[in-house]
Amino acid sequence: MSTFKAIRIDKDDQGYRAGLVQFDEKDLMEGDVTVAVSHSTVNYKDGLAITGKSPVVRRFPMIPGIDFAGTVETSTHKDFKAGDKVILNGFGVGETHLGGYAQKARVKGDWLVRLPDGMSAAEAMAIGTAGYTAMLCVMALERHGLTPDRGPAVVTGAAGGVGSVAVALLAKLGWRVIASTGRASEADYLKSLGAAEIIDRAELSAPGKPLGKERWAAGVDSVGSHTLANVLAQTKYAGAIAACGLAQGMDLPASVAPFILRGVALLGIDSVMAPQALRQAAWARLATDLDKSTLAAMTKTVKLEDAPATAADILAGKVRGRVVIEVG
Ligand code: NDP
Repeated sequence: MSTFKAIRIDKDDQGYRAGLVQFDEKDLMEGDVTVAVSHSTVNYKDGLAITGKSPVVRRFPMIPGIDFAGTVETSTHKDFKAGDKVILNGFGVGETHLGGYAQKARVKGDWLVRLPDGMSAAEAMAIGTAGYTAMLCVMALERHGLTPDRGPAVVTGAAGGVGSVAVALLAKLGWRVIASTGRASEADYLKSLGAAEIIDRAELSAPGKPLGKERWAAGVDSVGSHTLANVLAQTKYAGAIAACGLAQGMDLPASVAPFILRGVALLGIDSVMAPQALRQAAWARLATDLDKSTLAAMTKTVKLEDAPATAADILAGKVRGRVVIEVG
């Protein structure tokens, strides 16, 4: 019998709970690649899964962890062999398929991305799903034809995971970044990532007008609800906002005014089912467009057994930047 350390979520007569266990390899789900996981991370969705605050987990018991990095142990998939370094994001891992908070994971090879040259597994998970999603947002803005000479870029939820990586990426690419945060105490942190201006998220989080003063040409929004509505209302003519999150809420109490009077575009971003070509392009860009020292400055590392406590912290808005979990 071969067992390994894992965080397991159970839901039964004794309630909904997550804790460290020894997991039996024979209980892993089907897949053509088995990976020795070295690192995972805590994303907002992991917080929802571990606490049970939203019904993101669809099977019990579940190993949470929507992403991981590690080394292929065995593979019958044509593209992967033992020893290959790989990354996984999404595809329902940690929701419907046993996830990354375990020393082993068995998944479909079609879901894996190769670790880019020059990037360590720990760095890949410092980026994690949050950072990869920030890159998908930036690439969507670029595909829309937006460039830094068009005006500033706003980032909401700036001190969070998606936000921190988005600030760093946009600043490195030459944008003047306006960072919206509820944590005034993180102003110096956000400036160290490259933000030029900090605004209080309270400016954007209450019900607003259909159109406001034109303030930014582009934006990355991980907050949704009134914040996204106000961000759209204050976007310059022909600008665009990439929307990926719902930290404030899933609703969008907006009007069509920014779309029909200013030609503003709302670009939807999904990381979970993003096609392979887009994933690979995003990870390749992350290897070149994100400073390693900036990434290190926004990252802290915890042990596997600390993941449940960190999950509660991320939902409480207490996590700054990114959290890597040392699994292996
Ligand atoms: P974090 O918790 O790290 O960041 C969210 C940030 O949002 C917080 O740090 C805080 O920033 C801000 N925030 C929190 N609560 C509120 C509120 N009530 N009103 C306004 N702002 C608030 O989470 P992640 O960065 O990991 O994820 C961010 C969002 O993006 C989540 O909703 C997540 O589900 C989503 N997401 C979506 C993906 C996709 O595929 N579409 C992939 C990855 C993430 P500050 O303190 O600076 O104000």
